[in-house]
Amino acid sequence: MDNRFQTRRQFLKTSALAAASVPFVGAPVSSARAAGPERKIGFALAGLGNLSTHQLAPALQKTKYCRLAGVVTGHPAKAKLWQAQYNIPDQNIYSYDTMTQMAGNPDIDVVYVVTPNGLHAEHTIRAAQAGKHVLCEKPMEVSVEKCQQMINVCKAAGRQLAVGYRLHFEPANLECVRLVRNKVFGDLKVINAGFGFRLGDPAQWRLRRALAGGGPLMDVGIYALQATRYLTGEEPVRVSGLETKTDPVKFSEVEESIAWQMKFPSGVIANCSATYNAAGMDYFAAYADRGWFQLHPAYNYNGNRGTRSDGQTIQFPDIDQFAAEMDDFAQCILENRPTKVPGEEGLRDVKIMMAIYEAATSGKTVELA
Ligand code: NDP
Repeated sequence: MDNRFQTRRQFLKTSALAAASVPFVGAPVSSARAAGPERKIGFALAGLGNLSTHQLAPALQKTKYCRLAGVVTGHPAKAKLWQAQYNIPDQNIYSYDTMTQMAGNPDIDVVYVVTPNGLHAEHTIRAAQAGKHVLCEKPMEVSVEKCQQMINVCKAAGRQLAVGYRLHFEPANLECVRLVRNKVFGDLKVINAGFGFRLGDPAQWRLRRALAGGGPLMDVGIYALQATRYLTGEEPVRVSGLETKTDPVKFSEVEESIAWQMKFPSGVIANCSATYNAAGMDYFAAYADRGWFQLHPAYNYNGNRGTRSDGQTIQFPDIDQFAAEMDDFAQCILENRPTKVPGEEGLRDVKIMMAIYEAATSGKTVELA
């Protein structure tokens, strides 16, 4: 089956899929499965920065099928603190250089790669070659070639590769997909979407091209891009773009703000933007032939909510999106079925983002195959 449509269909069926159990061809039965269904999947977090510290480690405590088994870090002092806080044994502490030694450690099933974007391939490949499944943060990498390499290596190792697209597990976003699929407001015509914030510390890796791959497009614009793709269930065929810098010193290596347009095969047009220098941009609005709906905020960890042209609101109790994402990946491994957010999904976004950059720098519309 075309993986793209499989992904879209699965997006709508989060819970149904969990029960369905589709075999994942090529993946050997994991050690967790072999040890019995009661065993939780052991996750090692690679890169103990903000996301790992403030979101992923706490989320792991809320999961049903996962446990924090180990860490990979370049800083032994951080490892000590994590060991004390989360009761992690010495043998489950690794550096980026010793990751390959995980091969002999059955306590770790999954490496969650949470390092800067331009290091995702290196760390994913090391984990897969050590026989571990990989959950990799977004954006998958900084080039199409590196994404493809990650997919190839995980496939050759018979390990699953998923991308950390947490909104595929978030009820308000899923409800908006349902509104489109059920044509509640008719056929979708236009989407406006944007995500941005004011970036602080000028010394951070997000402003360095080699590690970030780009600016706000790669970091947060990817959420707006994702929204257009999961709302339409289609892939864009044409993109145009514009970049701007009002602070060329701070943003010497990456764009400060970017706007882009996409055309989809059904004729839907999307207007999107992303910025590192304006506050509070976090939305999408979708216009169909009989009405509209919007989420604002749309991409937060909590509190995503919206309105509809018929006066109804879109609001659900908050869930921990990271816990849901990790539990789903753990179930994929336990049940030997494919993830709905595979490496191929991450690769598609990177391919489109590269086309957007090409369009923005050349000033020309870029066709996507
Ligand atoms: P941080 O800078 O806070 O942490 C990154 C960590 O990576 C560092 O603390 C460090 O951990 C490790 N690292 C290894 N090599 C380097 C290097 N050369 N330079 C800097 N850090 C290095 O970043 P975030 O946690 O905010 O982001 C990490 C990833 O997660 C990114 O890909 C980002 O896009 C993604 N992300 C996803 C979010 C989501 O909602 N899904 C939200 C935020 C981020 P150590 O010291 O342990 O080696």
